[in-house]
Amino acid sequence: MRDLTDLGLAAIRDGVAGGDFTATEVAGAFNAAVAEANPALNAFIVTTPDHALAAAARVDAARAAGQPLGPLAGVPIGMKDLFATQGVQTTAASHILEGFIPPYESTVSQKLWDAGAGMLGKLNLDQFAMGSSNETSAFGNVISPWRAEGETAMRAPGGSSGGSSAAVAARIVAAATGTDTGGSIRQPAAFTGIAGIKPTYGRCSRWGIVAFASSLDQAGPMARDVTDCAIMLEAMAGFDPKDSTSLDLPVPAWSAGLTDDLRGLKVGIPREYRIDGLNADVAKSWDDGIAWLKDAGASVVDISLPHTRYALPTYYIIAPAEASSNLARYDGVRYGLRDLPDHAGLQDMYAATRAAGFGAEVKRRIMIGTYVLSAGFYDAYYTQAQKVRTLIARDFDAAFGEVDVILTPTAPSAAFVLGQKSDDPLEMYLNDVFSVPASLAGLPAMSVPAGLDRSGLPLGLHLIGRAFDEQGVLNAGLAIERRAGFAARPGRWW
Ligand code: GLN
Repeated sequence: MRDLTDLGLAAIRDGVAGGDFTATEVAGAFNAAVAEANPALNAFIVTTPDHALAAAARVDAARAAGQPLGPLAGVPIGMKDLFATQGVQTTAASHILEGFIPPYESTVSQKLWDAGAGMLGKLNLDQFAMGSSNETSAFGNVISPWRAEGETAMRAPGGSSGGSSAAVAARIVAAATGTDTGGSIRQPAAFTGIAGIKPTYGRCSRWGIVAFASSLDQAGPMARDVTDCAIMLEAMAGFDPKDSTSLDLPVPAWSAGLTDDLRGLKVGIPREYRIDGLNADVAKSWDDGIAWLKDAGASVVDISLPHTRYALPTYYIIAPAEASSNLARYDGVRYGLRDLPDHAGLQDMYAATRAAGFGAEVKRRIMIGTYVLSAGFYDAYYTQAQKVRTLIARDFDAAFGEVDVILTPTAPSAAFVLGQKSDDPLEMYLNDVFSVPASLAGLPAMSVPAGLDRSGLPLGLHLIGRAFDEQGVLNAGLAIERRAGFAARPGRWW
């Protein structure tokens, strides 16, 4: 029999609906693949084979009874451990939430279950989604399934959605959820040769997602190809009165609207993204992307986004500021860990719990955030950063007066070796140089696989669209995907 784990989301859905195999067979195949690979990859913090099997049994029973099937019926997925899942431990990969079992389900995960998907487990991530390599998790590093040619060194799967990217690339899940605050769907997708889209801010409800930086956080799908992303995003998106920043707009039929005919489309190439010393393989893949989009009928226009160079410092003020406020709730009273030294008072309990519960990167962000929000420095840092954020958004407004979509590399390099950047936070933050501007402006953006670099590691191309124009981003992504013909897979060493 064919290996069902070779199938992506659309193929599984269609095969289950058409009776080629049962949802229970699919769930069984993926559960077995997870059990086999996870000791090596550490992509999951907890596995939930029974959740996947129960969802599959419901789908098989519905089909037998002739009832209509949901758009994700029979598809087993991985859930980033930032989404609250009722009755299943939710940790944000932090010791401070270890043992926390939410009594409620996040809106996005509930929508996915309602669409007929099942959960294989909770995926590892950078602690509180802070990081670019999945090395800040309290539950250990995720190991990328990819290795450079002729090497055995362990590579980063990207971050923060590193469990998601590793699991999709290793084909132990059909697709996965991610979240993206400054690049956490797109950079890990690029590092592992998969597709991922961050929709317009507000498309997916944030309700029940552990908050990092609320004005930036967005959920989105990570999957093997653009079509699977479009189908899954349709199931995840939609207005939610429980999230005050949720967009009250209908969800377009993105998958039905997919086309790689880009005639009449204008693609902007921002000259400021040609950073000094840009990696030669990355530059070459960017040129390939330009040629593919032209081949699909688009015209290419040189554009300027002059405030891009301030995007990283702006992000690394705003994101920690919001994080320091959001993470104030982890005080040992309400959730997870409580460290109560003998004869301690309330303040001592707060301090002991937070000292023991948060990892080093999380503490660094809380300290930076508290500093930039403090009375003496608020105007110099936080207010200033908010003003620059507006200028960055205006750059995009002006560019989208001229072009329909913007093409850049997703990340400045292919996946690096674990440990290579973990001692130097600034070096790590530079990973986000191409992804952060779209986050600050709230725009939809996606990464699609573009090829391999000279050492055999995947590179991604990054498409940024107008607010609400996920369709334009997906279509340009599809045009690249079809022309790149990316079929490489990591060799199986686990
Ligand atoms: N790498 C970025 C950071 O560490 C982005 C993380 C994210 O998008 N969650 O903040």
